[in-house]
Amino acid sequence: MGVDVVFFGPPGSGKGTQAQRLAESLRIPQVSTGDLLRGHVAQGTELGKVAKPIMESGALVPDELVTRMLRGRLAEPDAACGVLFDGYPRTVAQAAALDALLAESGRRIVSVVFLDVADEVIVDRLVKRAALEGRADDTPETIRERLRVYREKTEPLAARFREKGLLARVDGNRPVEAVAADISRAVAAAAEAAR
Ligand code: ADP
Repeated sequence: MGVDVVFFGPPGSGKGTQAQRLAESLRIPQVSTGDLLRGHVAQGTELGKVAKPIMESGALVPDELVTRMLRGRLAEPDAACGVLFDGYPRTVAQAAALDALLAESGRRIVSVVFLDVADEVIVDRLVKRAALEGRADDTPETIRERLRVYREKTEPLAARFREKGLLARVDGNRPVEAVAADISRAVAAAAEAAR
């Protein structure tokens, strides 16, 4: 049996990189709502048309649209035995929706990795990424807005997960390997405890 793990942290925290490594080692798919949304934008779907300007502004795509998209992704065969959720939930409403979606198949989150990174580090990394990848939402204004939205809407989820005993806070202000080692240890311990 696989496990369901949530990964969250500020934009530019190195969440994508770490989530990919962990998903590979746990042999579960990494489901990134940001990547899924960018796929819709690239394909010009109805959702993509709605999401594009919202993403470019640094705001969040409405909960019900993202949740519907996620529900579709979870119905795919590779998601049947556990998923690493990357970038979802991002709001209290999404956290409740995820609990409900997982409960439909008798599943629940076993661990929430919270990659904590200081603002200065984030801005520095995102500006560098903008130069490398040219992502449309990596302009200085959008970076600031995404950080603001993150602090306001997403970071409060840490308290919710902490109360449930699910939160594994990892200090992300360190080299990739050191962060990855802490994450593996934390998730392995949580998965063991959940068995
Ligand atoms: P980052 O972690 O760098 O902010 P993501 O790739 O996770 O980047 O997300 C990029 C954008 O996609 C977000 O700024 C937001 O507009 C949209 N998005 C991604 N996931 C969600 C979500 N769960 N709910 C609402 N909007 C989302």
